[in-house]
Amino acid sequence: MGEFELIHRYFAAPELQQSRRDVCVGIGDDCALIAVPQGKQLAVSVDTSVAGVHFLPEAPAHSIGWRALAVSLSDLAAMGAQPAWFTLAISLPEVDEAWLAEFSRGMADLSQRYGVALVGGDTTRGQLSMSVQVQGYVTQGAAWRRKGAKPGDIIYVSGKLGTAAAGLRIAQGLLSKGLPLPDLDALNAEDSVFSESDRAALKAYLYPEPRFDLISVLSSRVSSAIDISDGLLADLGHILTASGVGASLDHNRIPCFNHADMSPESCSQGALSGGDDYELCFTVSPQRRLELEVSAEQSKVSLHAIGMVTAQEGIRGIPESASVGFDHFKDKR
Ligand code: ADP
Ligand code: MG
Repeated sequence: MGEFELIHRYFAAPELQQSRRDVCVGIGDDCALIAVPQGKQLAVSVDTSVAGVHFLPEAPAHSIGWRALAVSLSDLAAMGAQPAWFTLAISLPEVDEAWLAEFSRGMADLSQRYGVALVGGDTTRGQLSMSVQVQGYVTQGAAWRRKGAKPGDIIYVSGKLGTAAAGLRIAQGLLSKGLPLPDLDALNAEDSVFSESDRAALKAYLYPEPRFDLISVLSSRVSSAIDISDGLLADLGHILTASGVGASLDHNRIPCFNHADMSPESCSQGALSGGDDYELCFTVSPQRRLELEVSAEQSKVSLHAIGMVTAQEGIRGIPESASVGFDHFKDKR
């Protein structure tokens, strides 16, 4: 199968195109042509996923496709941008049609959920990796930034942190026993062989959900925001640096994913430093706190106040042993 047949069959599939009126020209020309809605700013972000570094090459191709798109979309959610289009640059060591069909189905399942259209890309031969560039739009001036947190603001996180880190450990455990990793259907199956906690953890790791549901809840109420991709301490650290402030955390209030087979210490360490959760961390001024909590309650999303922004720099209130998240150039994975 040639490059163009491959593109046509697996990436130009209607499931990945969506019917968006703002896509004037999609796959097939030298460029895609997009009509940007009036009064909006384009939000653009790209993330690369390399086999063995960002994802387990043994993972189901359906999960690899889903995840590659999800981690990029999460950056749009983190700035309050509505997702719209994406491009995919993929390197494949070989043409494995069964793998490609599952990969593109996983990407399509997530893209359909948010109506994001695949409008172009590039296909090359090489070590398995993919870069997904996403574009979304946000009302002029309304995007949440990392800078903007002020002393006295309350720090919040969504979801239970450390869930994906637990999922990665469970996945590695399965692989070490020579067992396959489950795809979404297997994780959702009524007769699944996995416990409830294993399922939740594996789902969080293999099928992350970008938190677009938080955009309307947080809307203009937040003073800064970020998505948690490298662990709470690392990503909150980016907000603090950008805003020129520090934080005092209430360790007991940080929502941890507790797994029956893990010690409380390792759950807590996962919540502070585990990556891949793609939850949001954000700050809110005390004046808007009540409004935010009412809005969260109405939308049935759970948010957790975990501390306060301080004028004094650095993060206080967490065990000294807690380590910061992963850094590609500092750490060896
Ligand atoms: P060019 O050589 O002009 O860059 P290509 O031959 O690389 O174009 O690609 C042909 C068309 O297919 C282009 O519209 C491109 O955007 C699209 N395309 C290539 N690879 C992918 C992919 N993996 N996913 C989606 N579209 C792709
Ligand atoms: Mg090209």
